[in-house]
Amino acid sequence: MSARENVLGQLIDMSRWLGEEGREFAILGEGNTSAKISEDSFFVKASGAQLSNITEDGIVEVCFGKALDMLDGLEMSDSEVKTRLLDATINNESKLAPSIETLFHAYLLSLPGVGFVGHTHPISVNAITCSAAWREFTMGRLFPDEIVCCGIAPAYIDYTDPGVMLGRAIRDAVNIYIAEYGERPKSILMQNHGLIAIGNTASEVKSITAMWDKTAKVLAGTFNFGGPNYMAQESVDRIYTRPDELDRKKLIDQL
Ligand SMILES: [Zn+2]
Repeated sequence: MSARENVLGQLIDMSRWLGEEGREFAILGEGNTSAKISEDSFFVKASGAQLSNITEDGIVEVCFGKALDMLDGLEMSDSEVKTRLLDATINNESKLAPSIETLFHAYLLSLPGVGFVGHTHPISVNAITCSAAWREFTMGRLFPDEIVCCGIAPAYIDYTDPGVMLGRAIRDAVNIYIAEYGERPKSILMQNHGLIAIGNTASEVKSITAMWDKTAKVLAGTFNFGGPNYMAQESVDRIYTRPDELDRKKLIDQL
């Protein structure tokens, strides 16, 4: 099996896992996924494909350079965006249209150490992102495994029009995050929209998404018992830098 086929197989498995109905991470055509093939190109879900039953016919190859150029260019009309996205595809005889969210995938996959990206709309997480106090209640960490899988903090995006605008907003937010924390985020919460999990491997994307789902459910549950009791910052920092936790994280990433 070629490296390219291997990446495609892992992307299909990850997408179906994220789209499985019982997980409640995405329904119908919700969510999109991607994987880096090389420095030149990546795979992304085609517009209209469904995560739960995706095949290679629902995935399209896109050129990094052409997609990233769209983030830097001038404003474009919706039809121009569609034309340029199609023009950025490679080996695409059936003229599949890449997801409208292709640009943020291109940007995130261009960061060092990122191999796979999974964007979903989990019911549990969207109960938070669609709430008035979504940032306030997700600023603190609730339990150690949340920190190990999802990172020291998520990045935040206020509601933004999907497409070019969202791609630029995510690039700006990630740059601010890197300046603040000295590393890229593992997860991004998008107001009134959903979650992005950014992984080195497909397994890491799955574990970040599953752990965010659990965190959101635990957070919702705390309101039955007086509200959340966040971990002290020194405990959070300690977990984040402990060697045994780092070893655990390495193991999780290899799952
Ligand atoms: Zn979405």
